[in-house]
This record gives sequence, structure tokens and C-alpha cells, in this order.
Amino acid sequence: MKRVYNFSAGPSMLPLAVLEKAQKELPDYKNSGMSVMELSHRSGLFTDIITEAESLLRELMNIPDNYKVLFVQGGASQQFAMVPLNLMKNGKAAYVNTGSWSKKAIKEAKKYGQVNVIASSEDDNFTFIPKVNASMIDPEADYVHITTNNTIEGTAFREIPDTGNIPLVADMSSNILSEEIDVSKFGIIYAGAQKNIGPAGLTVVIIREDLIGNASDICPTMLDYQTHSDSGSLYNTPPTYGIYMAKLVFEWIKELGGIEAIQKRNKEKADLLYDYIAQSDFYASPVAEDSRSIMNIPFVIPGRDLDTQFVKEAKEAGLETLKGHRSVGGMRASIYNAMPVEGVEALVSFMKKFEEENK
Ligand code: PMP
Repeated sequence: MKRVYNFSAGPSMLPLAVLEKAQKELPDYKNSGMSVMELSHRSGLFTDIITEAESLLRELMNIPDNYKVLFVQGGASQQFAMVPLNLMKNGKAAYVNTGSWSKKAIKEAKKYGQVNVIASSEDDNFTFIPKVNASMIDPEADYVHITTNNTIEGTAFREIPDTGNIPLVADMSSNILSEEIDVSKFGIIYAGAQKNIGPAGLTVVIIREDLIGNASDICPTMLDYQTHSDSGSLYNTPPTYGIYMAKLVFEWIKELGGIEAIQKRNKEKADLLYDYIAQSDFYASPVAEDSRSIMNIPFVIPGRDLDTQFVKEAKEAGLETLKGHRSVGGMRASIYNAMPVEGVEALVSFMKKFEEENK
């Protein structure tokens, strides 16, 4: 068996222990004579899986009791529509524009109401996170939307803005479960699964109860948070295998010592890479120091046309998917929870060798 270090932004690496457990359980799940993919979503065995997945996520993230956990489909992109369709009672929302995904969220919300972009780093190619404070927010805004980690640009909010009484909605697709956060600061947290949770096809929504039940009249049933909340995410057939895989990933995080331990490991991995880039005069980070993501780390080789060669040689060395997003260029290493420290060490060794050979 050959496994590479996969630095893809998503779908991305899953822990080998999780894949092996899934493999072992695949053809005959708990003596049912069938795989989880073949189980009815109303069966007892699947009920146990979804109940356990929710309770593990609650435990890991310390989710307060007045929040619901929903397992839905449609990706984070569907949340770009669900959020305004469910929350825009006054028809007004504030958005912070920190990258390509924020822009998509803004574009979608504009279909349903007035969108006020209260802060943006677009004029500086999204290389930093702008400051946000309560005084910038229209008191009639129904919510404030942020993208906590910008997958493409490699920036992250190091501090969660205080939005006072206005609910804060966060797209946490690329940094959920990577570090400790205080869920009570948020009205809604949503995340596509394909980075830190499990396979693509599942979207996790954590929503404060008072934000459920206010959907606009035109909101499709499937896009109403109430539909999924009332049915325990079983209104229709949910992404059953994705939920099972998420449960295995949550168990894996718990075994590692929970979010506190994973945060420590993530910080260590990010420091390895940032410290190496900082001392090198060959590589550079395009991101402001106080805004750096610990999940997605872009880097460039200034003044040289070596990106294609870097990516090709890295692949030959078992380091995959390091090409930067087409909108940014350069390289990007996505080092989500499942990337072992050894993977980042191997990347840094390769970078050293490449620097020596091409200086
Ligand atoms: N938001 C962020 C921050 C993302 O990184 C992504 C996907 N890479 C999306 C939204 C879109 O997610 P999905 O493909 O699940 O719709």
C-alpha cells in the first residue's frame, strides 16, 4: 500500500486509522450483514451512528444545550443561501469580505436582501483580515457573516469579532475542529465536511435555537433549518455514509486528546512551515503575520518562474497537491487535522533541498 502526504485544500487527507476502521467495518457492519451505505437511515444501527456523531461533536466543541446540530447536504455553498433565507427578517445583513468564499456568500445573500459589506481586504488581494467591531454594524442588521478561515488566501480571524446582540454567522469550512472556539459567540457555524470532518457530501450546521423557525415565505422546505431541526436531520435521506465517517473522525480526535491536543499539534505543524519560510530568502509568505491561517499556508518563490517545477518535483517525492489556487498562484500547503507532523517535516525537507538546488 502506498500513501502520500496530500496537501489538498479539500477533499483532503483523512486519518489512516479512520480509513482502516471503515475498511474493516465495510462489508458487514456490526453483524448486520450489510455495509453502512446499505443500512436504512431509519434503522436502529444508523440511529446509533447519527446520535453518537452528534454527541461526540457536542463534546469536542463544547456545544451549549441551546444549540442544535444539523447534518445536511448541499455543501457550504448551500449555506450561502440558507443563511439569508432563514435569518433575513429585516432584510438586512452585514458581511465581511475576506476572500473568494466570502465573495460567493455575499453574492448569494444579495438575492434575498440588502447586504452591507462592513469590512474588506479585497484591495490588498485579501492578504490580511480587516478589523471588525460592533460600531460598524447597522443595529437593524439581521446578522453578521464572516469566513473564519480563508482556504484560498490562507488567512484566518485570530480573534472572533464582537458583534454585540447581532448574531454572528461563520463559515468555518476550513478550520472547524482545528482549535478551541467558544460556540456561544456564534449564532450559526457551518462547515462542509471535506476538510476536517469527513468525506464531501455532508455539511454540519450548529445553530442557536432562537434562529430556527424564522424562514422567509419563499424558503424551500429543504432549505429551512426548522425542517432539519424538527426531524433530527432525517426529513429525507441524509448522507448516511458521510455521517458515519464523521463519527469515526470525531472518535479519532477524541482519542488524540480532543481539540486542545489537536490545536497544539496544528500549531506545531504551522510553526514548522512558517518558521522555515521566515528564515529563507528564497520562499516568502504573501500573508500578513497577524492574519495567518494554521490550516492553509500559501507560499511563493519571488522573482523566479519555478512553481511548476516545484509542484512536479514535490509530487515525485510523495508530496501531492501543492499547487496554489489558480486565483492566487504560487504554492499552498493545506495541513488540516489529518496531516501528520511527519508530512510537514517531509515538506520542509523537500523545500530545503529545492532551495539548495535552485538558488
Ligand atoms: N467556504 C469555504 C471557506 C471553503 O473552503 C469552501 C470549499 N473549499 C466552501 C465554502 C464551499 O464549500 P462546498 O464545496 O462544500 O460548497
